[in-house]
Amino acid sequence: MASELTRIAASLRRSPVYVTPSMASALPAPERLLQAIRSAPVPVFAVIVPLVAGGAWPDAEHLADAVHGRMRRDGVYLTLDEGSSNEIAAREYGVDRDSIDAAGAVNLDPAMDSASLTDRLTRCVELITSGRAHAVYQEQSDALDRRIRNESPGGGGHSLAYGLGGGAAVAVAAVAGLLVWRQRRVPRPRPALTGARTTAELRERAEAELVRLGEALEDKPDDTPGLREALDAYSAAGKALDAARTVPDLAGVLVLVDMGGDAAGGQEPTPLCFFNPLHGDGPVAVRWRAVGGRERLTVRACGACARAVRARKTPDVLRDGATPYYEVDPARSVWATTGYGQIRGDLVQRVLRGDLRRA
Ligand SMILES: [Zn+2]
Repeated sequence: MASELTRIAASLRRSPVYVTPSMASALPAPERLLQAIRSAPVPVFAVIVPLVAGGAWPDAEHLADAVHGRMRRDGVYLTLDEGSSNEIAAREYGVDRDSIDAAGAVNLDPAMDSASLTDRLTRCVELITSGRAHAVYQEQSDALDRRIRNESPGGGGHSLAYGLGGGAAVAVAAVAGLLVWRQRRVPRPRPALTGARTTAELRERAEAELVRLGEALEDKPDDTPGLREALDAYSAAGKALDAARTVPDLAGVLVLVDMGGDAAGGQEPTPLCFFNPLHGDGPVAVRWRAVGGRERLTVRACGACARAVRARKTPDVLRDGATPYYEVDPARSVWATTGYGQIRGDLVQRVLRGDLRRA
């Protein structure tokens, strides 16, 4: 990959924005970005190339170090962040402009979620120029804290009203909206805290979704691609529902129903949020390391959880009692073992062969 590094450095000496040809469409109208960079008080370089695990540049740090080493010019180097093609990473060499905070502020800002990469990078450079990057990052971080608190068991006001384990109440309420937003395939609206309020009602909803999946599969022609996998997931969901005693168990039913729907739907499967499947879809890939774990995993999460992880905060995790579900002894929980199917791909097979209740 030395040749690409040479090409990047040569290009950056002519213009401070390098976009690999295959990603040119990801950076529409880069003139605004160039304008912002020209107004910046320090040299800023943007290097937009894909980061691939196991590749020459597995993460932003390797890429920025390599390009800076070849360029031998100090300044701010902006790249994509590994794990997400829409997040920005920043490294500084020989300058001090709070650039990492500037990138963090853009990544944390919900208002930037649907902005183009050009707009996001431009905003990042403007923050670097303004000298307010740290303050703005802090504001975004505090706002995220408040959002997490409002959604977390025990932290906000809502869950206490139901006199349940707070996690269950929030969880149950979230499920009310699950099916609707899945079908529309639009960004998930904040679930209204109405609808099901007890574990029994969560069970009812899981049952209803299972029935709906069964009916949808019945109507499919026998030669539908993925039908076999879908039927396996459906059987596993039924088995999981029969054995379900807790909110994490019922969340597992919903995960399996979702897998069944994805398998028969012919779409690219979208897993539910790794941290709490009751949040709905997990469209954002995020790198995450479990407490005490050595491995960094890429998991799919909802926007709020992804943002929390990137800000090094604890997301609104689904708990089994007081313990995050994934920290439960794997010998006792197929959900912990598989991360609801995101850490290991054989969740359906494990459930079908009876891994549900070995405790
Ligand atoms: Zn989530």
